[in-house]
Amino acid sequence: MNAFLDLRPEVTLAQARAADARIARGEARALEGVPIAHKDVLVTRDWVSTAGSRMLADYRSPFDATVVDRLFQAGMVGLGKLNCDEFAMGSTNENSAYGAVHNPWDLDAVPGGSSGGSAAAVAAGLTPAATGTDTGGSIRQPAAFCGITGIKPTYGRASRYGLIAYASSLDQAGPMARSAKDCALLLSAMCGFDPMDATSLNLAPEDFSAGLDQAFAPNAASSSRPLAGLRIGLPDEFFGAGVAGDVTIAVRAALDTLETLGAQCVRVQLPNTELAIPAYYVIAPAEASSNLSRFDGVRYGHRTANPSDLRDLYRRSRAEGFGAEVKRRILVGAYVLSHGYYDAYYLRAQKVRRLVANDFDRAFEQCDLIAGPVAPTVAWKLGAHQSDPLADYLADIFTLPASLAGLPGLSMPVGFGSGDGSGFGSESGSSPRPVGMQLIGPALQEARLLRVAHQFQQVTNWHLRRPPEPRSVTTG
Ligand code: GLN
Repeated sequence: MNAFLDLRPEVTLAQARAADARIARGEARALEGVPIAHKDVLVTRDWVSTAGSRMLADYRSPFDATVVDRLFQAGMVGLGKLNCDEFAMGSTNENSAYGAVHNPWDLDAVPGGSSGGSAAAVAAGLTPAATGTDTGGSIRQPAAFCGITGIKPTYGRASRYGLIAYASSLDQAGPMARSAKDCALLLSAMCGFDPMDATSLNLAPEDFSAGLDQAFAPNAASSSRPLAGLRIGLPDEFFGAGVAGDVTIAVRAALDTLETLGAQCVRVQLPNTELAIPAYYVIAPAEASSNLSRFDGVRYGHRTANPSDLRDLYRRSRAEGFGAEVKRRILVGAYVLSHGYYDAYYLRAQKVRRLVANDFDRAFEQCDLIAGPVAPTVAWKLGAHQSDPLADYLADIFTLPASLAGLPGLSMPVGFGSGDGSGFGSESGSSPRPVGMQLIGPALQEARLLRVAHQFQQVTNWHLRRPPEPRSVTTG
């Protein structure tokens, strides 16, 4: 599947032996000996950290990202690094300098992105857990496309120290695993205040596993209706004409299941949903253009051979090191931040961001969480959007709003679709591909999302389905 970019069996086996010894001594920590692999935008001392870019082809970090370190301190054994879109820019993993990742459910389909390697590796059973990062949907959408569970926490919950920056006001790391229960264990270990991240929230540590089996309302009478009292908001904007039939059917069926558990669905409005796309695709490239200015061929990363002068060094190092999508975003970002355009684009996008956040505040007066599809379609075929980057941007419509508002979002598998009637052309004869449902909560309500997903997974088995054994494919 081309999911892994760096494996070092000697490192992994040494960590595993240390975990075995601790277990034998009766000193096992919360996640002792459980394997995990990390998205390659999280820096690691023991493995190369490329961010999916030629720019960082052989980059070795002198330190571990805080989330990587916290999982290690909880006892986890590192398997290596996972492929992703270059600097996490993309929705298909096709923007990786190291080739596309294949979706284990349909090897001709994308796994989603940018955490495509993480999602594919977990779905195929190569690792029980992976880290992902989510700027505009990069945990939730690949989790949906590969039929696994993932959660992007509230902005500020998980430290960004050592997360190679794409758009700093949006980037968050989170866990990707089979079940909500596994995600809760992982998230508890990952989160926590970090003085090395200026936007880290200074909160007491939270055990996200503690309340998974509890009823939503503390005095709910019947154990067969544990979600009694839970109001699920269904935004009109998430169930409109742009959503493929197979996705709508699976999401509606999942909502029926949640209703049988006692939840009640209410209609809500998120009127600025459509504007989230242009706002995000101004703000994220603006921040990216600034963040990526550090890759200059001088301090670290790719350096061109025999530059004629300093300007030539910058130019050619960046021209050679960055891929096409990264260059596109640097150009857009530099443009919207430039004198004369700043007010018209960047400032206006920031105002739209506030409107999107206000929409959620208003909706959460009527409901406890919001549910809808993660993406308008199931995973599309590799290469389907090759000549049309905007098609990828548009497909982010349901994940971008929570990112702009900094809210937690969870993705869980709720069925399968055929890809027919997807809006991207009919693909009959393809293997079934997973459909994901998204749960969005008010700030800091990760526990609520995980509890609802866990209770759904107690009465359904979508999260237990496994793709066919992968055959090997030629990767590009
Ligand atoms: N698809 C979005 C983008 O390309 C989101 C990526 C992400 O969350 N890292 O920017």
